[in-house]
Amino acid sequence: MNLGLASGNLYKLFFPKDQNKIIEFFLTLCKKYNFNSYELTYSCEDELEIDLNDKSIKFLKALECVSIHYPFHDIIEDNEQTRRIFKKINQIYHETDSKLIVTHPEQVKNWDFVKNLEKEFDVKIVTELQIPSKFHLDGFDKLLSKVDVRFVFDIGHAEFHDFELLKVFFDKYSNRICEVHLNKVFDNKAHSHFFMHGASKTLELVKNLDVPMIIEEAFDPDKIEDIEKEIKYLLNYFLNPDGNM
Ligand SMILES: [Zn+2]
Repeated sequence: MNLGLASGNLYKLFFPKDQNKIIEFFLTLCKKYNFNSYELTYSCEDELEIDLNDKSIKFLKALECVSIHYPFHDIIEDNEQTRRIFKKINQIYHETDSKLIVTHPEQVKNWDFVKNLEKEFDVKIVTELQIPSKFHLDGFDKLLSKVDVRFVFDIGHAEFHDFELLKVFFDKYSNRICEVHLNKVFDNKAHSHFFMHGASKTLELVKNLDVPMIIEEAFDPDKIEDIEKEIKYLLNYFLNPDGNM
Protein backbone atom coordinates (compact mmCIF):
# COMPACT_ATOMS: atom_id res chain seq x y z
CA MET A 1 0.00 0.00 0.00
CA ASN A 2 1.04 3.55 -0.61
CA LEU A 3 0.54 5.58 2.58
CA GLY A 4 1.45 9.26 2.80
CA LEU A 5 0.95 12.45 4.76
CA ALA A 6 -0.68 15.79 4.01
CA SER A 7 0.83 19.02 5.27
CA GLY A 8 -2.72 19.92 6.36
CA ASN A 9 -2.29 17.45 9.24
CA LEU A 10 -0.22 20.07 11.04
CA TYR A 11 -2.16 23.22 10.29
CA LYS A 12 -2.68 23.80 14.01
CA LEU A 13 1.04 23.46 14.79
CA PHE A 14 2.56 25.77 12.18
CA PHE A 15 0.53 28.89 11.81
CA PRO A 16 0.93 30.75 9.51
CA LYS A 17 1.41 27.64 7.45
CA ASP A 18 5.00 27.17 6.29
CA GLN A 19 5.31 24.09 4.07
CA ASN A 20 9.08 23.96 4.68
CA LYS A 21 8.69 23.70 8.45
CA ILE A 22 6.05 21.00 8.05
CA ILE A 23 8.23 18.97 5.66
CA GLU A 24 11.15 19.35 8.07
CA PHE A 25 8.91 18.01 10.83
CA PHE A 26 7.66 15.08 8.69
CA LEU A 27 11.02 14.06 7.19
CA THR A 28 11.88 11.54 9.89
CA LEU A 29 8.45 9.88 9.78
CA CYS A 30 8.43 9.72 5.98
CA LYS A 31 11.86 8.08 5.95
CA LYS A 32 11.08 5.73 8.84
CA TYR A 33 7.93 4.40 7.12
CA ASN A 34 9.23 4.65 3.54
CA PHE A 35 6.42 6.93 2.46
CA ASN A 36 6.25 7.68 -1.23
CA SER A 37 3.35 10.11 -1.34
CA TYR A 38 2.76 13.55 0.09
CA GLU A 39 0.13 16.22 -0.23
CA LEU A 40 0.86 19.93 -0.03
CA THR A 41 -2.31 21.36 1.46
CA TYR A 42 -3.06 25.02 0.76
CA SER A 43 -6.17 26.61 2.20
CA CYS A 44 -5.85 30.18 0.90
CA GLU A 45 -3.74 32.33 -1.41
CA ASP A 46 -1.65 33.87 1.41
CA GLU A 47 -0.07 30.49 2.12
CA LEU A 48 1.50 30.55 -1.33
CA GLU A 49 3.68 33.50 -0.35
CA ILE A 50 6.23 31.28 1.40
CA ASP A 51 8.18 29.51 -1.34
CA LEU A 52 9.38 25.93 -1.03
CA ASN A 53 13.09 25.87 -0.19
CA ASP A 54 15.67 23.64 -1.93
CA LYS A 55 15.49 21.00 0.78
CA SER A 56 11.70 20.70 0.48
CA ILE A 57 11.86 20.50 -3.31
CA LYS A 58 14.52 17.80 -3.16
CA PHE A 59 12.42 15.78 -0.70
CA LEU A 60 9.23 16.11 -2.76
CA LYS A 61 10.91 15.40 -6.10
CA ALA A 62 12.19 12.07 -4.81
CA LEU A 63 8.65 10.84 -4.02
CA GLU A 64 6.41 8.88 -6.38
CA CYS A 65 3.31 11.01 -5.94
CA VAL A 66 3.06 14.60 -4.79
CA SER A 67 -0.38 16.17 -4.93
CA ILE A 68 -1.20 19.82 -4.36
CA HIS A 69 -4.43 20.79 -2.69
CA TYR A 70 -5.52 23.97 -4.49
CA PRO A 71 -6.35 26.70 -1.90
CA PHE A 72 -9.80 25.45 -0.99
CA HIS A 73 -11.18 28.79 0.18
CA ASP A 74 -10.71 30.31 -3.29
CA ILE A 75 -13.15 29.98 -6.17
CA ILE A 76 -11.70 28.88 -9.51
CA GLU A 77 -13.05 31.02 -12.32
CA ASP A 78 -11.77 33.02 -15.25
CA ASN A 79 -10.41 36.05 -13.40
CA GLU A 80 -7.24 37.77 -12.23
CA GLN A 81 -7.10 36.06 -8.83
CA THR A 82 -7.37 32.53 -10.23
CA ARG A 83 -4.69 33.30 -12.84
CA ARG A 84 -2.42 34.64 -10.09
CA ILE A 85 -2.96 31.60 -7.83
CA PHE A 86 -2.64 29.19 -10.71
CA LYS A 87 0.67 30.64 -11.80
CA LYS A 88 2.05 29.85 -8.34
CA ILE A 89 0.45 26.39 -8.15
CA ASN A 90 1.81 25.58 -11.60
CA GLN A 91 5.31 26.59 -10.51
CA ILE A 92 5.13 24.30 -7.45
CA TYR A 93 3.62 21.49 -9.53
CA HIS A 94 6.49 21.46 -11.99
CA GLU A 95 9.36 22.11 -9.59
CA THR A 96 8.24 19.17 -7.43
CA ASP A 97 7.18 16.86 -10.31
CA SER A 98 3.66 16.69 -8.86
CA LYS A 99 1.02 14.37 -10.27
CA LEU A 100 -2.25 15.99 -9.20
CA ILE A 101 -3.90 19.26 -8.29
CA VAL A 102 -6.87 18.58 -6.03
CA THR A 103 -9.89 20.89 -6.14
CA HIS A 104 -13.25 20.82 -4.41
CA PRO A 105 -16.33 20.57 -6.66
CA GLU A 106 -18.03 23.60 -5.16
CA GLN A 107 -15.07 25.86 -5.91
CA VAL A 108 -15.05 25.12 -9.64
CA LYS A 109 -17.51 27.33 -11.49
CA ASN A 110 -16.72 26.16 -14.99
CA TRP A 111 -15.05 22.87 -15.92
CA ASP A 112 -14.27 24.02 -19.48
CA PHE A 113 -12.09 26.71 -17.95
CA VAL A 114 -10.34 24.11 -15.75
CA LYS A 115 -9.81 21.80 -18.72
CA ASN A 116 -8.18 24.71 -20.57
CA LEU A 117 -5.89 25.35 -17.59
CA GLU A 118 -4.86 21.68 -17.70
CA LYS A 119 -3.85 22.03 -21.32
CA GLU A 120 -2.24 25.43 -21.02
CA PHE A 121 -0.11 24.54 -17.98
CA ASP A 122 0.37 20.81 -18.62
CA VAL A 123 -1.03 19.76 -15.23
CA LYS A 124 -3.60 17.21 -14.03
CA ILE A 125 -6.54 18.64 -12.11
CA VAL A 126 -8.90 16.41 -10.16
CA THR A 127 -11.90 16.91 -7.91
CA GLU A 128 -12.88 15.47 -4.53
CA LEU A 129 -15.90 13.78 -2.98
CA GLN A 130 -17.47 16.25 -0.59
CA ILE A 131 -19.73 16.05 2.45
CA PRO A 132 -23.44 16.13 1.46
CA SER A 133 -24.16 19.65 2.71
CA LYS A 134 -21.65 20.99 0.19
CA PHE A 135 -22.17 18.68 -2.76
CA HIS A 136 -24.70 15.86 -2.82
CA LEU A 137 -23.84 12.43 -4.17
CA ASP A 138 -26.28 12.71 -7.09
CA GLY A 139 -24.77 16.10 -8.00
CA PHE A 140 -21.30 14.60 -7.85
CA ASP A 141 -22.46 11.64 -9.95
CA LYS A 142 -23.83 14.11 -12.52
CA LEU A 143 -20.51 15.99 -12.56
CA LEU A 144 -18.55 12.76 -13.16
CA SER A 145 -20.91 11.69 -15.92
CA LYS A 146 -20.46 15.04 -17.70
CA VAL A 147 -16.79 15.84 -17.11
CA ASP A 148 -13.83 13.57 -17.81
CA VAL A 149 -12.18 14.07 -14.42
CA ARG A 150 -10.72 11.75 -11.78
CA PHE A 151 -11.38 12.33 -8.10
CA VAL A 152 -10.12 11.95 -4.54
CA PHE A 153 -12.22 9.67 -2.35
CA ASP A 154 -12.20 11.34 1.06
CA ILE A 155 -13.31 8.82 3.70
CA GLY A 156 -14.31 11.47 6.22
CA HIS A 157 -16.45 13.24 3.64
CA ALA A 158 -17.82 9.96 2.28
CA GLU A 159 -19.03 8.85 5.70
CA PHE A 160 -21.62 11.62 5.76
CA HIS A 161 -23.41 9.92 2.85
CA ASP A 162 -25.81 7.01 3.18
CA PHE A 163 -23.59 3.92 3.01
CA GLU A 164 -25.79 1.94 0.61
CA LEU A 165 -25.90 4.85 -1.86
CA LEU A 166 -22.18 5.35 -1.39
CA LYS A 167 -21.48 1.70 -2.16
CA VAL A 168 -23.40 1.92 -5.47
CA PHE A 169 -21.52 5.13 -6.30
CA PHE A 170 -18.17 3.53 -5.36
CA ASP A 171 -18.76 0.47 -7.57
CA LYS A 172 -19.70 2.74 -10.47
CA TYR A 173 -16.73 5.11 -10.21
CA SER A 174 -13.93 3.31 -8.34
CA ASN A 175 -11.79 3.22 -11.51
CA ARG A 176 -11.73 7.04 -11.47
CA ILE A 177 -10.43 7.36 -7.93
CA CYS A 178 -6.87 8.72 -8.09
CA GLU A 179 -6.19 9.16 -4.37
CA VAL A 180 -7.79 8.45 -1.01
CA HIS A 181 -7.88 10.91 1.88
CA LEU A 182 -7.88 9.05 5.16
CA ASN A 183 -9.71 10.62 8.08
CA LYS A 184 -12.38 9.50 10.44
CA VAL A 185 -15.71 11.11 11.22
CA PHE A 186 -16.23 11.58 14.94
CA ASP A 187 -18.76 13.73 16.74
CA ASN A 188 -20.18 14.76 13.36
CA LYS A 189 -16.84 16.19 12.22
CA ALA A 190 -14.40 14.83 9.64
CA HIS A 191 -10.59 14.76 10.03
CA SER A 192 -10.47 12.76 13.28
CA HIS A 193 -8.37 9.62 13.87
CA PHE A 194 -9.00 5.92 13.20
CA PHE A 195 -6.72 4.71 15.98
CA MET A 196 -8.96 6.48 18.51
CA HIS A 197 -12.37 5.73 17.08
CA GLY A 198 -11.92 2.53 15.06
CA ALA A 199 -12.15 1.61 11.38
CA SER A 200 -15.35 1.82 9.35
CA LYS A 201 -17.22 0.20 6.47
CA THR A 202 -16.07 3.08 4.26
CA LEU A 203 -12.42 2.42 5.07
CA GLU A 204 -13.01 -1.25 4.23
CA LEU A 205 -14.44 -0.17 0.86
CA VAL A 206 -11.17 1.44 -0.28
CA LYS A 207 -8.86 -1.11 1.29
CA ASN A 208 -7.78 -2.71 -1.98
CA LEU A 209 -7.49 0.39 -4.14
CA ASP A 210 -4.04 0.81 -5.63
CA VAL A 211 -3.77 4.58 -5.20
CA PRO A 212 -1.96 6.91 -2.76
CA MET A 213 -3.64 6.86 0.66
CA ILE A 214 -3.03 10.22 2.26
CA ILE A 215 -3.60 10.79 5.98
CA GLU A 216 -5.46 14.10 6.03
CA GLU A 217 -6.45 14.73 9.61
CA ALA A 218 -6.20 17.49 12.20
CA PHE A 219 -3.65 16.66 14.87
CA ASP A 220 -3.56 18.47 18.16
CA PRO A 221 -0.21 20.26 18.76
CA ASP A 222 -0.24 18.99 22.36
CA LYS A 223 -0.61 15.39 21.19
CA ILE A 224 1.64 15.31 18.17
CA GLU A 225 2.70 11.73 19.01
CA ASP A 226 -0.82 10.76 17.80
CA ILE A 227 0.45 10.99 14.21
CA GLU A 228 2.66 7.96 14.65
CA LYS A 229 -0.12 6.09 16.45
CA GLU A 230 -2.36 6.73 13.45
CA ILE A 231 0.33 5.62 10.97
CA LYS A 232 0.86 2.37 12.87
CA TYR A 233 -2.88 1.73 13.14
CA LEU A 234 -3.45 2.27 9.41
CA LEU A 235 -0.42 0.25 8.31
CA ASN A 236 -1.64 -2.63 10.44
CA TYR A 237 -5.17 -2.21 9.10
CA PHE A 238 -4.15 -2.19 5.45
CA LEU A 239 -1.48 -4.84 5.66
CA ASN A 240 -3.47 -7.28 7.74
CA PRO A 241 -5.91 -9.10 5.39
CA ASP A 242 -8.46 -9.70 8.17
CA GLY A 243 -8.53 -6.00 9.03
CA ASN A 244 -9.39 -4.62 12.44
CA MET A 245 -13.14 -4.52 12.13
ZN1 LIG B 1 -9.77 15.62 1.62
